[in-house]
Amino acid sequence: MTLREAYDELVGLYRGWHVLEHSGIYTDAQDIIDLDFCPDQHCTQFSSRREVLTDLSRLRADLIRYGPVVHPVVLEDLNASQVFLRALLGESLSFRHFVLELFGFDARPVSFKRLLAILGEINRLAAELGMEYSTQDRQRYFDRFKVNSAVEVETLIRSSQSHWIDRLSRFVDIPAYLPIKTEIAEEDKPWSFSVTGGSRGITLTINSHSRHTFTVGQCDYIPSHEVAGHVVQFLSWSKLVSEETVPAVLGLISTHHPTIVLSEGLSQALPYFISSEFEMKRETLFAKKLRELRDMVLANAQIMLLGGQPIDSAWDYCTGALHFVEEAEIERELSQRSLDPLQRAYQFCYAPSFLAYKSIADSIDKRDVGPFLHSQYQAIPSPKKFWSSSDCSDNVFGGL
Ligand SMILES: [Zn+2]
Repeated sequence: MTLREAYDELVGLYRGWHVLEHSGIYTDAQDIIDLDFCPDQHCTQFSSRREVLTDLSRLRADLIRYGPVVHPVVLEDLNASQVFLRALLGESLSFRHFVLELFGFDARPVSFKRLLAILGEINRLAAELGMEYSTQDRQRYFDRFKVNSAVEVETLIRSSQSHWIDRLSRFVDIPAYLPIKTEIAEEDKPWSFSVTGGSRGITLTINSHSRHTFTVGQCDYIPSHEVAGHVVQFLSWSKLVSEETVPAVLGLISTHHPTIVLSEGLSQALPYFISSEFEMKRETLFAKKLRELRDMVLANAQIMLLGGQPIDSAWDYCTGALHFVEEAEIERELSQRSLDPLQRAYQFCYAPSFLAYKSIADSIDKRDVGPFLHSQYQAIPSPKKFWSSSDCSDNVFGGL
């Protein structure tokens, strides 16, 4: 088998696995392909996950035999797929071990020092907006900034999109046309926005389920994450696929692959690379910092729960810090993080990945921002390399 044939077989495996998941035989069916930029249409037929795992293991061994010519990200994705599939089949790994094997980083709690720092920023911004960051002022905050309909969310997002794209275009090439359509969904899931689709166009979905709350400031920064972050990055990667600079299989984007975790962190930290906090409207920066705090506190609460602590302790921990989050949302986050193995790890990844990219944004020389972003957009970064060079000091992560 040539390397090219092995890559083609891998495409067939991922497509076949996706079809199997949605064949109706699994109550816990997973999306294996979330975005599809792969021109190759190979599709292998499978009748069980066990069969997929056997093929995955065989293909991985075949690819390893080719040595360093194999694209490293393909092997990292394959490794994650094996770990994910084994978990779906019932293998029980400790959470820390699972995240490490799946996404490549050590799942440690965000340090108290770091939480205090962001709480300080939030208190300062609340004061600038004439409010106090306390449960008593939550309603005042929502009365002033809450966006009540998904249609309004869509309008606000569209109007702030060009600002972020213009900012990003100073550092990286942006496709002349961004093929994005917007849809509205109502799902009781943790995601507020999602991007799906592929070569034929991208759909940005707004989750308007009643357990989601949107604010003006959030709608203002969201295009920096979803569009300037994810969409431009995925389209840039897909160009590498169509030019055959990278193997076609890397055009299949899956949320269980470790590259997506990097995309989440970069998208979340992007405003700090391409803009400055002074330039952002106060309500935008405030909404952004509230989301960052929320991700960090929930990640820590998740570690508490997975360590066997009672739900009351995790609940008190969250409500003690997340004054501007509706309790029904905290409830959903805490309970859903114990559901399927992917959600457990995926929801957790936001805080550590953001913090890793934010520490780069904070220390990078302005002249190096372009080359750094180039390395994330015009190439598919290796998660293994990223995490081994990232700042995971106790300043960021530590004990609870
Ligand atoms: Zn995202």
